[in-house]
Amino acid sequence: MSKKYILSLDQGTTSSRALIFDHSGRIISMAQKDFTQFFPQPGWVEHDANEIWSTQSSVAAEAVAKANLSGDNIEAIGITNQRETVVVWDVDTQQPIHKAIVWQDRRTSSYCETLKQAGHESMIRDKTGLVIDAYFSATKLKWILDNVEGAREKANNGKLKFGTIDSWLIYKFTRGRVHATDITNASRTMLFNIHTQSWDEELLSLFDIPAEMLPEVKQSSEIITTTATTLFSSKIPISGVAGDQQAALFGQMCLEPGMGKTTYGTGCFLVMNTGNEAIQSENNLLTTIAWKIDGKVSYALEGSVFIGGAAIQWLRDGLRIIHEAVATEALATSVDDNDGVYFVPALTGLGAPYWDQFARGAIVGLTRGTKAAHIVRAALEGIGFQVADVIHAMEQDMGSKSKELRVDGGAVANNFLMQFQSDLLQSDVVRPKVLETTALGAAYLAGLATGYWKNIDEIKSQWQLDRKFSPQLSADEVGDMMDRWHDAVGRSRNWASKK
Ligand code: ADP
Repeated sequence: MSKKYILSLDQGTTSSRALIFDHSGRIISMAQKDFTQFFPQPGWVEHDANEIWSTQSSVAAEAVAKANLSGDNIEAIGITNQRETVVVWDVDTQQPIHKAIVWQDRRTSSYCETLKQAGHESMIRDKTGLVIDAYFSATKLKWILDNVEGAREKANNGKLKFGTIDSWLIYKFTRGRVHATDITNASRTMLFNIHTQSWDEELLSLFDIPAEMLPEVKQSSEIITTTATTLFSSKIPISGVAGDQQAALFGQMCLEPGMGKTTYGTGCFLVMNTGNEAIQSENNLLTTIAWKIDGKVSYALEGSVFIGGAAIQWLRDGLRIIHEAVATEALATSVDDNDGVYFVPALTGLGAPYWDQFARGAIVGLTRGTKAAHIVRAALEGIGFQVADVIHAMEQDMGSKSKELRVDGGAVANNFLMQFQSDLLQSDVVRPKVLETTALGAAYLAGLATGYWKNIDEIKSQWQLDRKFSPQLSADEVGDMMDRWHDAVGRSRNWASKK
């Protein structure tokens, strides 16, 4: 029998990627293609769903060819994707009736405000774990039905289907035979009741969405279907699907309540496993489904920081006090401390747990003794402080301290930042060897369903540590710094609201 591998499809916001993993969780090959971003109006962001399919299927074939394999070598396909993005297609033509409306798209913001004013906030939060925001799928789907000519009538006649990107890819992989999504993606639509685990009639009627449009909701790890494209000669099971943040949580093997992951990219994305309990946040975090495996749902708390690594980009491209991001570590450690300088990177407002769209960046505590190195250090510390604020909010909601934080994303290369994070959290920060945790998570979910990996324990034993950072500062020292940070945050808040 030929050797088998898992093909993981990572359909992101700017590129489609495909990675092949072997049985030990090692990457065998990878292919990636960017696709077009459409900005038809300020605040609007669209993708061409056909281009998403063509780039995704071509990188899948490329990754297989690069590894010198054929479809027969692929045990299963896992899919992880940009979440919330909406595709609506016609069942007769199998063509999208409009460009995909991307999660970043703000066109339905004012409609969301009217929903809030009409008092729907607590009902929506209770059922979906989400806050009312244009970010989620529901209002984007409604927009397409309301604005594309003839769409509403077709939808009422059962001629249109809705899907997030995972759903669209499954539909294309099966040549229109299967219309399904996984439960993590469903939990981001604002149409799905995360407690009853079903599409919610009250929400469907609020948004005027015919139930026939919606995909069947599957577990994150189960054989959903097999491929029917000419792309591969053999029929390959599609058996693992999860939204990108959830896949990363699984790829990081954050399996116990209190284990969380942070991705330090342009922004910072935090997800914390809360086990079988859907915790309603008192601190402006989202409650979401982490995964469903073997009939059991795990829940998570989620919070995002808008400016993470982007603060370093700004030092490089805006302020021009560094040439490259990698230089920040040496500069930050070239000074003994931040010399009283605090940098709140609220360059586009503040995300969780503040949610202040009028906050703006602030560098406070400057003196004539301040050097560029202090500002660089304060920027890195500012990333760490923001992440600590979200983790502390999660700990408050959970009523217990987090166990350890597992990290990924481009900025985790920075050892100073990782050490500082561990100090602030007073807990271990753990950097794994494989940083492709999103693709790995989808691969694990897929391989688990087909028996490629026997059980989660077998997968857990593969997880390899690169480096663990443990606290070096005392709780008192950290407490003082957190106090100063919160003073600085206070000065950055509500800044842009005054003319
Ligand atoms: P994304 O997926 O959002 O594009 P990545 O995970 O590729 O982001 O991470 C890139 C981000 O990490 C950039 O914002 C960059 O400034 C930051 N970054 C990269 N290397 C370092 C470093 N050594 N120290 C601090 N930040 C870094």
